[in-house]
Amino acid sequence: MSGNAFSLKDIGDIQNDVLDEISQAGSLQVLEELRVRWLGRKGIVQDYLKNLGTLSKEERPVAGKVINELKDAVKTALEVSANGFQASETIRRLNDEKIDITLPGVRRNFGRIHPITKAMASILEIFIELGFSVKEGPEIETEYYNFEALNIPENHPARDMQDTFYVNGGWVLRTHTSPIQIRVMENNPPPLRFIAPGKAFRSDPPDASHTPMFHQVEGLFVDEGVHFGHLKYILDVFAKKMFGEKVRLRFRPSFFPFTEPSAEVDISCIICKGKGCRVCSRTGWLEILGAGMVDPEVFKAVDIDSERYTGFAFGMGIERIAMLKYGINDIRLFFENDKRFLDQF
Ligand SMILES: [Zn+2]
Repeated sequence: MSGNAFSLKDIGDIQNDVLDEISQAGSLQVLEELRVRWLGRKGIVQDYLKNLGTLSKEERPVAGKVINELKDAVKTALEVSANGFQASETIRRLNDEKIDITLPGVRRNFGRIHPITKAMASILEIFIELGFSVKEGPEIETEYYNFEALNIPENHPARDMQDTFYVNGGWVLRTHTSPIQIRVMENNPPPLRFIAPGKAFRSDPPDASHTPMFHQVEGLFVDEGVHFGHLKYILDVFAKKMFGEKVRLRFRPSFFPFTEPSAEVDISCIICKGKGCRVCSRTGWLEILGAGMVDPEVFKAVDIDSERYTGFAFGMGIERIAMLKYGINDIRLFFENDKRFLDQF
């Protein structure tokens, strides 16, 4: 196939040669080179077609047909070979990517129950076993339910702007869960035995033991003949179930506007068993809650006859209980959402 002269017989030989070459090509790149050489704009087939003019009128159509057949045959052979290379390339890549089942897996991040929720659930479970029901109430309260009905008068320090988040129009973010007691007593005659868990809010600057939002559980027991002994028994059962059978309770006289008499309640230190350590400030005791007998003024506000009925109430901070139970020394850890901390529970 040198120069312009060619014969139909030459083309037949050439076709066999080029198809051989294609079948032996070692890569897609070689196939591409063959395609350019044969079928490209300046390729051999194009050259043949240009030279058709040198043939006689009779030879021309036959030669044209043979050249086109050559072109089709080369084109098909190139495509078939290229497909073969692509398929084996895909197989090779799949092999490279195949899953090695001996490698460690990617660990999924499962959620966990927050330590506050966990502590809350343990507390509720204990009181539910003791026959208490669970009541809830709104987090945004009127000043009446948050203060007045609980015998906290206008000039009481607890109503100070510094402690309370005031909302427009006589509403506050409840500073404790005690308003739930009032709401339940207003709508239900004694006997009453319930606990009221929930969030409370105070505008304290955050430190190791204060956050502007925290959780409380309050309890209320109202019936005929309820006395301080019942309160001590219930709290003793609670403390032992929560912190262990060896825990002892101590009641210290205190003051709350809505109970009379009132007490701060301590448990014997669960770290040093009462010997005195850093956690209990060397006292051997840890304060866990406040309690007392419901003040007759509170019964008056909800129209319960305080001559006939008596009751006790108690309230505790869930964070405080959780900190003691799980050995946490800074309340802010509960709310920083640090997974390294939360994963420990
Ligand atoms: Zn201690």
